[in-house]
Amino acid sequence: MRRFPPSVARMDPAVEEFQKLDRILALEAQKGYADRAVIGGLTGYLDQLVARLAAAAAAPAHQAQAARLRALLASYASREHAERVRAVQAARSLLRQPAPAGSTHGVAGASDGRKMALPTGGAPVRDAGPSRIAQPINTLAPASAPTEADPAPAAAPLARPAAAASVAAAVPPRRLRLVDPGFPAVDRALGDVPGVGPNRLRLLGRLGLETVGDLLYHFPIRHLDYPPPARAVDLFFQQRASFEGVVRRVEVHRTARGLQRINAVLGDTTGEVEAVWFRAGYGMRLTPGQRIAVSGDLVLNGRRPVFENPDWEPAEQGPLHTRCLVPVYSTTKGLPQSWLRDLVTRAVDRWADAEPETLPDGLRAAERLLPRPEALRAMHYPRDAEEAAAARARFAFDELFTLQVAVLQRRRAARAVQGRALPTPHALLDAFARALPFALTEAQRRVIAEVCADLAEPRPMTRLLQGEVGSGKTVVAAAAMLVALAAGAQAALMAPTEILAEQHYRTVSALYERAADALSAALGRPPVVALLTGRLPARARRALREQVAAGEVDVVVGTQAVIQDSVEFRDLAFAVADEQHRFGVRQRLALRDKGQHPHLLVMTATPIPRTLALTLYGDLDLSRLDSLPPGRKPIRTVLLRPSERRHAYERMRREVAQGRQGYVICPLVEDSPHLEVRAATEEYARLQQHELAGLRLGLVHGRLRGEEKEATMAQFRDGAIDVLVATAVVEVGVDVPNATLMLIEGAERFGLAQLHQFRGRVGRGEHSATCALIAETTSPDALERLQVVVNCADGLALAEADLRLRGPGDYYGLRQSGLPDLQVASLSDVTLVERARRAAERVLAADPDLTRPEHAALAAVVRARAARVGEPN
Ligand code: ADP
Ligand code: MG
Repeated sequence: MRRFPPSVARMDPAVEEFQKLDRILALEAQKGYADRAVIGGLTGYLDQLVARLAAAAAAPAHQAQAARLRALLASYASREHAERVRAVQAARSLLRQPAPAGSTHGVAGASDGRKMALPTGGAPVRDAGPSRIAQPINTLAPASAPTEADPAPAAAPLARPAAAASVAAAVPPRRLRLVDPGFPAVDRALGDVPGVGPNRLRLLGRLGLETVGDLLYHFPIRHLDYPPPARAVDLFFQQRASFEGVVRRVEVHRTARGLQRINAVLGDTTGEVEAVWFRAGYGMRLTPGQRIAVSGDLVLNGRRPVFENPDWEPAEQGPLHTRCLVPVYSTTKGLPQSWLRDLVTRAVDRWADAEPETLPDGLRAAERLLPRPEALRAMHYPRDAEEAAAARARFAFDELFTLQVAVLQRRRAARAVQGRALPTPHALLDAFARALPFALTEAQRRVIAEVCADLAEPRPMTRLLQGEVGSGKTVVAAAAMLVALAAGAQAALMAPTEILAEQHYRTVSALYERAADALSAALGRPPVVALLTGRLPARARRALREQVAAGEVDVVVGTQAVIQDSVEFRDLAFAVADEQHRFGVRQRLALRDKGQHPHLLVMTATPIPRTLALTLYGDLDLSRLDSLPPGRKPIRTVLLRPSERRHAYERMRREVAQGRQGYVICPLVEDSPHLEVRAATEEYARLQQHELAGLRLGLVHGRLRGEEKEATMAQFRDGAIDVLVATAVVEVGVDVPNATLMLIEGAERFGLAQLHQFRGRVGRGEHSATCALIAETTSPDALERLQVVVNCADGLALAEADLRLRGPGDYYGLRQSGLPDLQVASLSDVTLVERARRAAERVLAADPDLTRPEHAALAAVVRARAARVGEPN
């Protein structure tokens, strides 16, 4: 229907190249196939031609054509005379089917001899190519459609050999139903579709396909690039080809369990080829005299080309399974690829045009994107690689744009909430800063100003403060909390663990202590800071809670759980949460229910790549502490082979001898915390007995009870343990300035950003520090990845590299946080994310509530997305 448009002449550098090649081949024939036509030989000439076309950015179709020619003439010089003759002839005949612009292969239009039948129904047809399936328009069941009740209608290619199906089965099913299905026109349940029985319906459900709309958005995982049919005589030396011809002979051998091997000889006026299906289902039947089309890979059996397990269909049908870019879908056992392909085809042919356009017309034109129906078709049946790319571009933009509209609307809703304006106490903050034992960095001053500006607004702040480990976030929090205190209100500082809560409590108390005079003068009394943890005896805890409720305590420091579950504040105006990745949207909302929408500052050391800042965290404001306090010694990072481990242990002994401490991080055991704990325990025992015998070792891992872990951490902090053997748990902000050496075992199993986080645990004091990455692998790729960590000290750059290399699902700390539903777009595509953001801002600026009629479809999709995706994007 759309894949073979009338040929459009377009001048491409390839056209001239191909003409020239044809002359060279003619000359080669003239000179008796001696490989004398061109200096350096034909194979070399073809290599150069392929390179020239690539360099000149010739049309993909032409490049593909050149590659095929190159394959035909491979190792020409070493072939025998007869083979050379055949190869040159095959190349010349391929050249006589020039690949026109706009088509991936061969001759376009009617010249290839296929019928130009138009659909019999009223289906809107955009261009005049042959129809894939002639079918009545008012039903999804074409006359020849396969049905479950009759699995092998004579003309239907239902049960077929498993070439394509087995390839697809190896690909894990993707998450489905992602691109905004759910419009009334396509709400039809698949159970109502003729040809879909209860069994198949169940299997479709397994793929997440329940409605006709779901089928439209069940995008292929890839396409098989099948050329248009060639003549039998031209099939020699082709690797992948299509052929149309008559079944001359068929042999069927029953093999194991419901399978049969089918050998067929097919012919056209120029000769014969063979086709063999090794594992065909019983449903497959070929009859002599029948005209069929096959596409697939060829091998040579003596002198005769053989299609092995080709895709096939009746020649007068399609092209659907052969002779074009054939979509391959993720499927499931029992659901043949070709059956699913037929079903999707019918859905697309019948319903794609009914899909409402969600992108406002002006925007779509400005962004130069295909209309939705056209893009839908092209996702499944692109004419060529270019059209496939255009379709993907449209849906990628579409997904990100819809996501941005949703994010921006949520942001606006959050900002519409009434909050409490806290004026900035400039004099107080200056006095606090003057009393610090150090000068605030530029970045700290800027972030404090950003936070103060937010706090002064009559709407609750939700700000994310991202700063590398050691960038000095705690001081910023201490300063910002003073803003609440100056307004006569309370503040809370929450940490993910007890030990961190204690650390913060000590830090904040000490900082306020230094500025005691100025603070007393401004607040009327010195600020009261209290530590509230689960460790506090019940009675003391009760007393403290009463003080907090009475407003006698100004700042409560504690673990989130304790603060959220059990504390009533008299007047909580500001809350700070440290280490954001342990602090999800749910906790944010829980906190919101406390007090009258307190301002919230969430602090994290995890670098947030720009694209995630715009999407996952798009409704938060972002501050970055992008420089470290002066005088920090850079952490030296080295990459060691396992055989070099002993150097690392010697170094550890030296550090400890000098009074320093160190960490040994054990490898991550994917999906098995149990094995991970065992490995760490064994490592600990081994080091204790051998390599690090005589040192004081401690062990922490995820299976320890909270208090056991905290006790060991506290011993390490207090210097009672020299070397801490740990699984990934140390990642959370422990501050032990005396630790100067970190060994990371199995470093290749961690993400780049995570390694950077680990590394930040050392070098926090006056002594220079080293991080040794010990790789268990020799894979060059993995070692190269680790070398990036060695060479790059910029956490954000590493995080962005991680996101590109591993995708957002693996990106450190985000696995559980509910990634946005994206089927086509990639969250590492900065340019596209930003483009979508700007477009969403433009649309919402003109129509904030999406009430205009031209935005109705968009509004519906955004609502559906909001309902489907809980948090936090
Ligand atoms: P993080 O951002 O990792 O939470 P901290 O707040 O724990 O960092 O600060 C790390 C160390 O840096 C602390 O010992 C702190 O006293 C110190 N520090 C913070 N700001 C400065 C500064 N401007 N100049 C010097 N040292 C600073
Ligand atoms: Mg910190």
